Amino acid sequence: MKDSPVVPTVDLDADGVQHGFLRLPWSGNESAWGNIMIPLTVIRNGSGPTALFTGGSHGDEYEGPIALANLARTLQPGEVNGRVIIVPFMNMPAFRVGQRLSPLDGCNMNRIFPGRPDGSPTEKIADFFHRVLLPVADIVLDFHSGGRTLAFVPFAACHALPDRTQEERCRAARDAFAAPYAMSMVEIDPAGMYDEAAEALGKVFVTTELGGGGTATARSAAIAKRGVRNLLKHAGILEGEIEGEPSVELEMPDAECFTFCESVGMVEPAVDLGDAVKAGDLLACVHSVDSLGGKPAEYRARTDGMLVGRHFPGLIGIGDCLAVLARRTGNR
Ligand code: ZN
Repeated sequence: MKDSPVVPTVDLDADGVQHGFLRLPWSGNESAWGNIMIPLTVIRNGSGPTALFTGGSHGDEYEGPIALANLARTLQPGEVNGRVIIVPFMNMPAFRVGQRLSPLDGCNMNRIFPGRPDGSPTEKIADFFHRVLLPVADIVLDFHSGGRTLAFVPFAACHALPDRTQEERCRAARDAFAAPYAMSMVEIDPAGMYDEAAEALGKVFVTTELGGGGTATARSAAIAKRGVRNLLKHAGILEGEIEGEPSVELEMPDAECFTFCESVGMVEPAVDLGDAVKAGDLLACVHSVDSLGGKPAEYRARTDGMLVGRHFPGLIGIGDCLAVLARRTGNR
């Protein structure tokens, strides 16, 4: 296969702290022989494991980028045993405009793996991660949040995997992140996800959903900042105790957990994030905004659980994800 056109401006194997870029040639209207410059920090000391931490896969999610920008600025080689590769704004073109998808090619970074070296900009970045960065990583963290159209209770997550040993290692890393909630997830649309690509390479992989609405909060940013250091301690790259309380364990085992909107209009929530519901309970009404006097559409829980995700802005469209439920599991 063709070599990746992405060029790191720093030596990924050098000791010490290096702040540089992943440079991807991009010939555009504003810059004929220009480049997409994706900031990257590599911190290495000794021969310990490699952690690969990413945020900004979707350009409207901020907890990861905040935590990773802080980590890149503060982590010292002397406290590290191994290597930490930090890319806070993975899909830089999307991040710059605060949008989920890249404005250059309309692509969703987390639906396009393994990417292509001769594809669109998003495909080229994905290919570089798949063939260059993922293979050298021992532990992989990819931050997500709800973005502008979803909001979540703060959780770290892992997936059910065919290799039970790998699944257990992912679960242990997820728990070490010490988010308030720890989720075992099914994906509604797993094709092309970075998660799947990393897991297929046998990596210990953790993802998150830490908030949403197209912004971070003081609380969600603090969870992210604590989580990255906890994960480095778990990997043996940093010394010290895991900080924070044990997570409450949740699972989203099947499609019953998801409620999608079948109407258009204004959302009236009946429950808030973190609330417990029983099957049949009202989750939300959707009012038509075209006229008055009509009955709003009612959306009810199809399973017992807790509301862990919801549509974010006040207006909703047909097909939008309205509510996500999860069930308490384990004994925490
Ligand atoms: Zn995301």
